[in-house]
Amino acid sequence: MLVTELRFDPLSGRWVAISPARADRPDAFLVRTPWVDSEPRACPFCPGATGEGPPLAQLEGPDGAWTSRILSNRYPAFDGDDPFVMVNRGPVFTEATAGGTHEVLVFSPDHAASFADLDDRQVRDIMQLLRRRLTEHATMHNLRYTQVIINFGREAGASIEHPHGQLLGISFVPRDLAEEQARFSRFVAGCLLCTAIEAEETSGRRTVIVNDDALVVAPYWSSVPYEMLVLPRHHSPHVHTETDDGLAGVGRAIRDALARLRSTIGDVAYNVVLHAAPYQHGEPFHWHVHLWPKATTRAGFEMGTGVSLNVVAPERAAEQLRAAGEAQG
Ligand SMILES: [Zn+2]
Ligand SMILES: [Zn+2]
Ligand SMILES: [Zn+2]
Repeated sequence: MLVTELRFDPLSGRWVAISPARADRPDAFLVRTPWVDSEPRACPFCPGATGEGPPLAQLEGPDGAWTSRILSNRYPAFDGDDPFVMVNRGPVFTEATAGGTHEVLVFSPDHAASFADLDDRQVRDIMQLLRRRLTEHATMHNLRYTQVIINFGREAGASIEHPHGQLLGISFVPRDLAEEQARFSRFVAGCLLCTAIEAEETSGRRTVIVNDDALVVAPYWSSVPYEMLVLPRHHSPHVHTETDDGLAGVGRAIRDALARLRSTIGDVAYNVVLHAAPYQHGEPFHWHVHLWPKATTRAGFEMGTGVSLNVVAPERAAEQLRAAGEAQG
């Protein structure tokens, strides 16, 4: 494929332009900026750190020391019990209360271990801890949805080096989620992502990782180079209703996908984004995980049109990511 091809993203409803010729430009991919502590200060997530308050949830090892934990964010983006109430302050000034919760999921006591470095047990435990907390969020009266993310590297928005995820419980259903819900509803041939799993396994051209509980693909409609989509095989609209095996399988798939990304294009920054149905909604939805490397910059055309220009065809990306897995054994 030499010329640019337009592909439709059935989850976001946006068009993507796959434009591989532009990858030949020098320095097509950015490697993440290393952390340099100009004024070394104690890491707030390392064992023994003070000032973070009691954990909201945590798992402990046989020696009683914590192995992974969820803390309140010290600088919350959303906070408080206020429900979503919209107020018009003029013909073009509309505002609403920003109640909610902002929490940090510290993967392990190890300051240097990213999600890609965790073992099977750690990954399973983290996913179960996450489910436990999301089950609580589902009962909080002012939360409509929780956005779970991992920002890795400064370019992806991380402000603390110690690897962690975040849970942002919010009092409204955000636009991108509402758009995905609408896309699931409009898809008439069954579940959109159950269908994608079947179609991608049949084709095999974009599959990266296949395990008993999850499938990782470089989606047909990839908007950035080496984008991946993690698809749980078990159909569930919510994370908090997922099975133990499903959760563990998805956790391992995310871990393996991130390790392959690193061995394919180097130590790049990335965002991991979980999408599940809002708490008061269910079907039709199939929870899933987006993995967006931050190896390129969104420029004017993309900002202005919402159309992404992707310089690496997903078929090529999948081929390289699969080969990275074989090299790792
Ligand atoms: Zn630390
Ligand atoms: Zn499904
Ligand atoms: Zn999504």
